[in-house]
Amino acid sequence: MGLVAAATLPPVIVRVHENLCVGHGRCYALAPDVFGADDYGHCVVLVADVGATGALFDQARLGVENCPETAIEIVAGD
Ligand code: SF4
Repeated sequence: MGLVAAATLPPVIVRVHENLCVGHGRCYALAPDVFGADDYGHCVVLVADVGATGALFDQARLGVENCPETAIEIVAGD
C-alpha cells in the first residue's frame, strides 16, 4: 500500500459564523495560531485550511469545543 501525498488530500476548512459570534474571545485565547480578533473582539479566522491532523487542526478543534455560541465549525473543503 503506497503513501498518499499530503497535497492530494482534500482541504479541511475552519469557518466562523459571523451571525453567531458575540466576541467571547475563547477561540483566539486558546488557539491563537488559527483565530484572531477584529476591532470589536469578534473572531477572525487566520488560517482557514488547517489540515486533517497536526497543531493547526488541534487548535481549530479547541476553538470548536470551547465556543459557547457554537459559532465555529470544521468542514471538508472541495
Ligand atoms: S469563542 Fe465563539 S463567540 Fe467567542 S469570539 Fe470565538 S467564535 Fe466568537
